[in-house]
Amino acid sequence: MPKLKGSKKATQFTESVIREMTRLNQLHGGVNLSQGFPDFPAPSMVKDAACAAIQADVNQYAVTWGAAPLREAIAREFTRRFGVAVTPDEQVTVCCGATEAMMATMMAVIDPGDEVVIFEPFYENYGPDAILSGATPRYVTLHEPDWTFDPDDLAAAFTDRTKAIILNTPNNPTGKVFTRQELGTIAALCRKWDVIAISDEIYEHIIYDGCEHVPIASVDGMSDRTVTINSLSKTYSVTGWRVGWTISPASLTGAIRKVHDFLTVGAAAPLQEAGVVALAVPDSYYADLAAAYRRRRDMLLDILERRHFTCYKPHGAYYIMTDISGFGFRDDVEFARYLVKDVGVAAVPGSSFYREGAGGRTKLRFCFCKRNETLAEADRRMAKLVIPAAARVH
Ligand code: GLN
Repeated sequence: MPKLKGSKKATQFTESVIREMTRLNQLHGGVNLSQGFPDFPAPSMVKDAACAAIQADVNQYAVTWGAAPLREAIAREFTRRFGVAVTPDEQVTVCCGATEAMMATMMAVIDPGDEVVIFEPFYENYGPDAILSGATPRYVTLHEPDWTFDPDDLAAAFTDRTKAIILNTPNNPTGKVFTRQELGTIAALCRKWDVIAISDEIYEHIIYDGCEHVPIASVDGMSDRTVTINSLSKTYSVTGWRVGWTISPASLTGAIRKVHDFLTVGAAAPLQEAGVVALAVPDSYYADLAAAYRRRRDMLLDILERRHFTCYKPHGAYYIMTDISGFGFRDDVEFARYLVKDVGVAAVPGSSFYREGAGGRTKLRFCFCKRNETLAEADRRMAKLVIPAAARVH
């Protein structure tokens, strides 16, 4: 057998820990609170629209950068909700999920050696995205418990080599919702250093406690230097459909579309048709979605706190970051393996969201995009969990 070697690029990052935890969970028959996907049905209207599109033979390639009716719906909704004008023909590109939208954008805007500012903890894909596009990441810490950043740290991360900043609000894994004031600080630096904001806003509708989702594209002077990324996955509970998109300044759209075309040609045509129906639901759908997730959040917070986790209460998205230092394990990976193997609950080790050696070793992320029964079953299983010494009654 010849000894074959992968590329240097491919050796610089590891397999997705989130997806690995899902596999381990299947192996041990656990309750999966690791990979963030709902275990409840998608809305019937959206599913029916997909089936109807297949039956109507919308089964060949759509236009590479997205079927016109879907691009129009995406532009219409962004303008309606945030007052930012979007021209579908010049600014919208439909991709295979937000994952591809992010990768296509990074490859389209980054040259090797360009610096990209990333808030830490970060969604695990952004690390490999930076490596694959040749970017040099500059990390800025979000400080627990509120996950705020120091404006001086952020300012120090910008230089004349900075090409882009990656934002994710509402944020995975912390549940932070960036405030208008924080976005103003970020925007001022983008304008000063001529930097592009790449903003992943897939949890925009999953938001609590009266917080407001502010797209950085709607901040003064940012619409022409922001690529906004979104998808159907989280809003309509269809993470397996892989339909996402970018809204970009017209001057960047051509580059994004070219990269997208040669990566994937296009997203599934019948699912794009269903996306048009999805984007036309009344606002009450979004209010109900947020209310249902708030109930799930409160339920999982209660469970985890009773089981002695220190929780950072999320204000958006569907994850809870916890601190596990009291449990007495060597690190997050050892604890996550114990939790899935011996207790039967899968969660994601915090180190997936941090650089090597940074704050992740004491943390674990749980998701709550699950039915009440699923969360209750996780609770039952966690009755077996070790109790931290400090919480034991002597
Ligand atoms: N965004 C989800 C998470 O953070 C799913 C990740 C994935 O598998 N693409 O868990």
